[in-house]
Amino acid sequence: MALLDRAIVRMLPVVPRPVVRKLSERYIAGPELADACRVIKRENAAGSHATVDVLGESVDDEVEARAFVEAYLRVLRAIEREGLDSNVSIKPTAFGLGLGYEVCRANLEEVIADAASRGNFVRIEMEDSSCTDETLALYRELRGAGHENIGVVLQAYLRRTPADIRALADLRPNVRLVKGIYVEPPSLAYRGFDEIRASFVACLEALLTAGAYVGVATHDEWLVDEACRLLVNRPREEYEFQMLLGVRRELGARIAADGHRLRIYVPFGERWYEYSLRRLQENPKIAGYIAADTFGRLLHPLNGRGRKA
Ligand SMILES: Cc1cc2nc3c(=O)[nH]c(=O)nc-3n(C[C@H](O)[C@H](O)[C@H](O)COP(=O)(O)OP(=O)(O)OC[C@H]3O[C@@H](n4cnc5c(N)ncnc54)[C@H](O)[C@@H]3O)c2cc1C
Repeated sequence: MALLDRAIVRMLPVVPRPVVRKLSERYIAGPELADACRVIKRENAAGSHATVDVLGESVDDEVEARAFVEAYLRVLRAIEREGLDSNVSIKPTAFGLGLGYEVCRANLEEVIADAASRGNFVRIEMEDSSCTDETLALYRELRGAGHENIGVVLQAYLRRTPADIRALADLRPNVRLVKGIYVEPPSLAYRGFDEIRASFVACLEALLTAGAYVGVATHDEWLVDEACRLLVNRPREEYEFQMLLGVRRELGARIAADGHRLRIYVPFGERWYEYSLRRLQENPKIAGYIAADTFGRLLHPLNGRGRKA
């Protein structure tokens, strides 16, 4: 990333929320479930599968965690009702992991059981390293309780991940493999671009050797090509590629045109801010975006004013 972009990324938390919201529109389906359904229909029509994320993380109490459970149950009902090709992705902290392991487990189990009754699937996401042990324990315990319709996420930047793959191998896990998005200390995580790439490839190889179903979740074209090389003789139903809504659509089109399964991550909801910041911080053209928005507002100062609420 260029110097100016890096400086702007550091400033993002002080950029006014309305600007962040506008800049990040492409990454989010909208505030309502209906928005997510509309976007999933569009993605399905283009041949892609979807996974839905109800935006938000880290709840303060059980009432808030309950609201997330209810929201996901509504999503699962809507997917079935509208015949959408989509599963769901859940952040453990939104389901109460910070309040207690058992709270989160019970909440997850309710949604997983509901998903199973509809023939659907739940991906348990991976958050910062303070959650890794408990998230993997949840996955193992829920699989042990007979829930087969679940998967987890592993982060290639964590030094521990090869050991986690070995420990999970007996489950033949369903794993979304990502680089990792949270800021972690060098004692826990690789920081260099090339070493994270190398770890991603090594983790993918290890997962395939372990017989895992892998969701290769990256927009890094080099990694997509490396994955295609490793997957060359695999049946298409044993893996998929995954990408975030609004990111590198041309790469997604190429993956799909080559005949691979592609799943698009579709976030929706009112709690858009943290997710938006993360996406903008990853966008290599962030300086250009901010400049275009700022000049746009300077040139058209009346935009947005004088409208009815
Ligand atoms: C489906 C999916 C689910 C994920 N789930 C998790 C999770 O549970 N836990 C977790 O820690 N992380 C998760 N991530 C995020 C992941 O860890 C990375 O932070 C993120 O994918 C960026 O890494 P990359 O592999 O795409 O490579 P990068 O090197 O970051 O990106 C490759 C290229 O993609 C383009 N690009 C990337 N981001 C943007 C953007 N926002 N806007 C425009 N262009 C962009 C750029 O051209 C960039 O050069 C998920 C990612 C995906 C795709």
